[in-house]
Amino acid sequence: MKFKVFESSEKNVWKYVFEKEDAIMESVLYRYDSFYDRTVICCSVMSGCPVGCKFCGTGCKFVRNLTSEEIIEQVDTIFKDKDIIKDINEKCKKLQIMFMSMGEPMLNWEEVEKAIIELNKKYNNAQLLLSTIAVNDDEVFRNMINISKDIEKVGLQFSIHKSNDMERNKLIPYENKMPLQKIRDAGIMWWKETGRKPFLNYCIDGTNNKEIDFNNLTKLFSPMIFNFTFSVVCSSNENMKDAGFKNLDIIKEFQNKFLELGYNVRMFNPAGQDDIGGGCGQLWYVQEWLKNMKIEH
Ligand code: SF4
Repeated sequence: MKFKVFESSEKNVWKYVFEKEDAIMESVLYRYDSFYDRTVICCSVMSGCPVGCKFCGTGCKFVRNLTSEEIIEQVDTIFKDKDIIKDINEKCKKLQIMFMSMGEPMLNWEEVEKAIIELNKKYNNAQLLLSTIAVNDDEVFRNMINISKDIEKVGLQFSIHKSNDMERNKLIPYENKMPLQKIRDAGIMWWKETGRKPFLNYCIDGTNNKEIDFNNLTKLFSPMIFNFTFSVVCSSNENMKDAGFKNLDIIKEFQNKFLELGYNVRMFNPAGQDDIGGGCGQLWYVQEWLKNMKIEH
């Protein structure tokens, strides 16, 4: 596949854009300290996305599902392109491949499942992390549990971002998704069957970190079972650095309350992706491509 690479000014994040006549897809490579300490590759499972999260550059511009070959090729290309990471599968302390660039994995499950199996064979040191809004599809969720039992490198993260369904529906307008209570039940099921804790991804925008949000979240999600990822959220016309500076203190304050209650909490570090548009669909090149395809918002 034809591809272009965009490098961040800090030279620790690279965005790969793959282009075909009928599709565009993007992946991001992150280096934390050295590639041997931690390397993360985020890859797309769709070209565009129909979910339409308000903060996402992909918007609701959906082009098509990707095949498993196209998903795998993104990862293979990055490995081949960067000489320095050739032996990373053997030597990296924390290698993570995340299905969390463009697209919702549960809406393209068959292809994502095939890609997980193949990527596990090729890069057996890599954790394979699914990040989902939790589409309300019991059969697909059952399959996610099954593959997570078969392949212990598979991890799960639910993107929740709000502490009540009404607000969440506004931010993530896709209708057929699990309400928060069902996400709680699904997470418990996944934990019971895999023995691993799922993560809850919560982007803080300054309006969802009130006392009531803390109470709602802690009432619903037990620290015995759920971990939290807190991250910055930025609108599609704002860069990650600005959003990060604006929200860093409030994220720390909010996450400390969870730490006090015994939650395992991590903060997403954008690692310098700000100046290349590292978030889904935020790169100017991708925006232009989608515009030229005349895909409706
Ligand atoms: S954040 Fe993910 S699920 Fe939401 S619109 Fe963007 S790509 Fe789709």
